[in-house]
Amino acid sequence: MSTTPVALDSRPDGVPEHSAAADFLATDLTGALALAATATAADVDRALRATRRSLADLGALLSPAAAGRLEDMAALAHAASVRRFGRVVRLFAPLYLSNECVSTCTYCGFSSGNEIARRTLSPAEVAAEARTLTERGFRHLLLVAGEHARIISKDYLVECVSALAADVPSVSLETQVWDTATYRRLVEAGCEGLVVYQEVYDRDTYAAVHLKGKKRNYDWRLAAPDRAAEAGMRSLSLGALLGLEPDWRSDVVAVAAHASALLRRWWRCEVAVSLPRMRPAAGDFEPARPVTDREYVQILCALRLALPDVGITLSTRESPAFRDAAFKLGVTQMSAGSQTEPGGYAEPGGAEPQFEVSDTRSPAEVAAALRAAGYDPVWKDTIGARVSDAYPAQSRH
Ligand code: SF4
Repeated sequence: MSTTPVALDSRPDGVPEHSAAADFLATDLTGALALAATATAADVDRALRATRRSLADLGALLSPAAAGRLEDMAALAHAASVRRFGRVVRLFAPLYLSNECVSTCTYCGFSSGNEIARRTLSPAEVAAEARTLTERGFRHLLLVAGEHARIISKDYLVECVSALAADVPSVSLETQVWDTATYRRLVEAGCEGLVVYQEVYDRDTYAAVHLKGKKRNYDWRLAAPDRAAEAGMRSLSLGALLGLEPDWRSDVVAVAAHASALLRRWWRCEVAVSLPRMRPAAGDFEPARPVTDREYVQILCALRLALPDVGITLSTRESPAFRDAAFKLGVTQMSAGSQTEPGGYAEPGGAEPQFEVSDTRSPAEVAAALRAAGYDPVWKDTIGARVSDAYPAQSRH
């Protein structure tokens, strides 16, 4: 009789060779992290003057020494953003499909241990939510769900994407991560983008906040954007949740290194980053170290200067006043009028939200604020095409 152990989990350990995840893990971040902690005024000057900035320059721009140069950084970040992306901000809305979840993540309102009202929309209800959103102007929707492989199955997700194909020109997905074959099915159904937050890049902190469920597999999650790109998704968005890691600078450096690796390997894809700050949610998780407004401005500027071709997303977790000031620093896309509970657009109040929204203005009000500042609100993606145009002849490998 064979004694070969049965593979209970078909996911391989580690990340695939020749992937952005592997490139990221092979990147030496030591120098950038050292500069993020101890850069001198001269290091900051050098980073500000550079025409192409390295990860080490990013480290210097994130340092306490750079905090005193915020005005200079903001002016450069604004100029770089206008030069590369124009005065344009794309607006999108999250559409929550389900708050069912079998995973335990200490920071999330949907975590399996939380006694909350749970709801999963039928594909017809998803289409109704989408209609409400398209009537408000949106052409780009992000479908969001917790992790429950039976209730929020591959087939269910394909059905939801298919239900929107005729009416919504741009659909992205933020759910549990899947294999390449599933991403291919979703692409065929009409999904063009993947959003996957690594949440926190330090492996020990990652293990400490992801207590139960598939999300515990760090490497499988890290390589999800590679699998999505392989399957044909043209837009990849990644990020970290600021507040999980006491040293926020290390997560910003890691996100930038991962985004750079994706951009190099999947040069036809639009790559964007997002570093939301923690907001109150069911479960009452306390951030390890809240990021202040000034620090957050420094992060946005540093990212824009170090990653001139990468999109930056700013969510409704931020206040109206903060968003109105910050979008000029390099933000390329913002959510607006967000509801973080399933069914929250057509029938609010039927389920628990994932977190509290801070900017509660309507999409029209957000669009008006952008116009008042001389920016064009764009409801459908036009920025991605420009990113692809910028790299016409590069090889992926
Ligand atoms: S972060 Fe995602 S996987 Fe974790 S509890 Fe929340 S919905 Fe579930």
